[in-house]
Amino acid sequence: MQSEEKPIDMHVHVVGNGSGSSGCWLRVRGWHRPLAAMMLRHIGLPGNALSGDLEGLYIERLLELVRGSSLGAAVILAQDQVYDEQGKPMKDEGSFYVPNDYVLKLAREHAEFLPAVSIHPARPDALEELDRCLEAGAVMMKCLPNCHNINCNDRRFMKFWERMAEAKLPLLAHTGGEHTLPVLRPEYADPRILALPLECGVNVIAAHSGTKSGLTDPEYFHIFLGMTRRFENLYGDTSAFNVPLRGRHVRKCLESPLCERLVHGSDYPVPVHGHWAWMQGFVNWKAFRRCEKNPNILERDYQLKVAMGFPKEHFTRGKSLLRVPRHKKTGLDGQGVTEEPGEFSN
Ligand SMILES: [Zn+2]
Repeated sequence: MQSEEKPIDMHVHVVGNGSGSSGCWLRVRGWHRPLAAMMLRHIGLPGNALSGDLEGLYIERLLELVRGSSLGAAVILAQDQVYDEQGKPMKDEGSFYVPNDYVLKLAREHAEFLPAVSIHPARPDALEELDRCLEAGAVMMKCLPNCHNINCNDRRFMKFWERMAEAKLPLLAHTGGEHTLPVLRPEYADPRILALPLECGVNVIAAHSGTKSGLTDPEYFHIFLGMTRRFENLYGDTSAFNVPLRGRHVRKCLESPLCERLVHGSDYPVPVHGHWAWMQGFVNWKAFRRCEKNPNILERDYQLKVAMGFPKEHFTRGKSLLRVPRHKKTGLDGQGVTEEPGEFSN
């Protein structure tokens, strides 16, 4: 008998400061500093964890939250460095780095985690790194074209996208405004930057579905919506929909056929509050109060979206897009699946 499929959070960030030899680094400057400390407090860590054993504490807390939630698994995201068009690392850019090996290792150690790697396609070793990560069990590739400086439509990346399509490795790419990370190319927040990987056959998930996060950001939601009609392999996520502005298109997102193209993501550790959803009338007072009382922000984000009316499939659809090795025991499966390593479910 098929056990009930559990929800999956497709968009969970991992950060580290190298305290546990993860290879991660974190460079928080200027007004991002209080913002980072605020996010840490929001997830229940002391603000001074930034300079302490951040990664140990962070993972411990994240595991606790996933286990204490309705979720079966969380896709944890690596974060590559910034490169220029010639594939040279831009050492002064980027505010944090999470190596692929770190998320791959965490996912081997914990059934709750699924590893999404991050590879800048301009890297001279991009294809080798992609193959290496596929071999090691990557379920998705994550990048932020506007922060990483990636023009996905650059024809030189075609081979890279084709290899991803062939391996059925989905791409989660940031779209819309961004205010927690430094932005190098604001114009790459436009979902149209994703045309070439889509044409190459990659299943692409536009993170945040092109929504804006700041008042002055351009709005790309309607462009994303138009593109879902043109590309059947384009999806969007609802990550950070519980911060003001991002979630303003919830009603549209609940309508078919767009609804069938959206997957759940929290954008953890981004704060989750129901005030916006309540004020917009997306959730009622009772649901708002109940969710707001829940200290587990992964669960709060999930419950708020359930209260908004997102259907069950919204929370499980992501699994069909991921390249999940069959032998990987995840919290998504009722019973452990035992297959030969190297076999994949799609
Ligand atoms: Zn994110």
